[in-house]
Amino acid sequence: MSKAASDGDPGGSAERALSAMFRRLIRETGPISLAQFMGESNARYYSSRDPLGAAGDFITAPEISQMFGELVGLWLADLWSQMGSPERVLYVELGPGRGTLASDALRTAAKFGLNPQVHFVEGSASLRAIQRGTIPGVTHHDDLGSVPEDAPLLLVANEFFDALPIRQLVRTAQGWRERMVGLEDDRFVFVAGDKPMDSAVPEKWRDADEGALIETCPAAASVMSEIATRLAKQGGAGLVVDYGTTELRSGSTLQAIRSHEKVDVFAAPGEADLTAHVDFEMLRHVAADQGAQVMGPTTQGQWLRALGIDRRLKALQRQSPGNADKIKRQRDRLVDESEMGALFKVMGLSGGGWPTAGAGFG
Ligand code: SAH
Repeated sequence: MSKAASDGDPGGSAERALSAMFRRLIRETGPISLAQFMGESNARYYSSRDPLGAAGDFITAPEISQMFGELVGLWLADLWSQMGSPERVLYVELGPGRGTLASDALRTAAKFGLNPQVHFVEGSASLRAIQRGTIPGVTHHDDLGSVPEDAPLLLVANEFFDALPIRQLVRTAQGWRERMVGLEDDRFVFVAGDKPMDSAVPEKWRDADEGALIETCPAAASVMSEIATRLAKQGGAGLVVDYGTTELRSGSTLQAIRSHEKVDVFAAPGEADLTAHVDFEMLRHVAADQGAQVMGPTTQGQWLRALGIDRRLKALQRQSPGNADKIKRQRDRLVDESEMGALFKVMGLSGGGWPTAGAGFG
């Protein structure tokens, strides 16, 4: 991707337009939900640029090293072989970015004779164009709804769920309220909504102390519900990788990233990537409720080591001795606990009679 495209909109006119739209809306109708603010900001953000890589705003595991996608491909090929290598199978990726993960995973899968049809769920027109260059012949979808229903799925979502719009709920003296986005003069500020929100709060949080703040992500719950329903019906397996927690905790995890730095979440709507920790506890429950088998979650570091990242590292170092240190450093970024190894989690899924114990989940 060119530098110019990564810079997006250096003049900031898109950002100003979106800020102005939010201001008008708030003045006319009152505070808006954080989910609306985040959803519209990210839709604008992703549709107008390639945010990945050194010249962009952030970097992801597949962009750090080919080893990540290769081990994902190995995991999928292993389960597919255990099922007797069915001829028709669909590789489905949610939010595939530049298509790098898919390219590495499919190259590895092909070594085992696995050559699935490729379907991408991608909202961004500019990323779709890049993905067509990486994976010619890919079929794009706005959501899972139009993905074929007649074959097992091999499903992957890396750093997709963290971009979906969250709601924040705060426990006030009057009970649970939604944390909304309002205006103080021309500045966006958080304000408590006036509607009781107790029914949107998980049971065990209802009586939390005043000041408690939790996040929910109805969009993530709905996507996971569809994934699990499909896996149970069509058969197949999947991997969800993201940063987050295995148990819901109190506190805001919302952050905005621009040019590899954290910035104020209200500073530049549509010009910074808004993300929040993924609640794997919720994803597990939703998946299980829809009849899918859940593996893990475990940490990314543990999973990559179990899949043999250190063997792959040695092989790559032998092929390219001049880059041995660089490749080792990439491995460390993915695996070390002080980097992505502990914060990022990997959750496996399967359904429709596919194996319930995938590699790397202990
Ligand atoms: N998986 C890639 C990219 C992660 S960035 C990687 O690991 O490098 C998030 C991706 O999700 C982008 O491709 C973005 O366009 C896509 N995305 C974010 N929100 C989406 C939504 N609501 N619907 C479809 N795609 C979305």
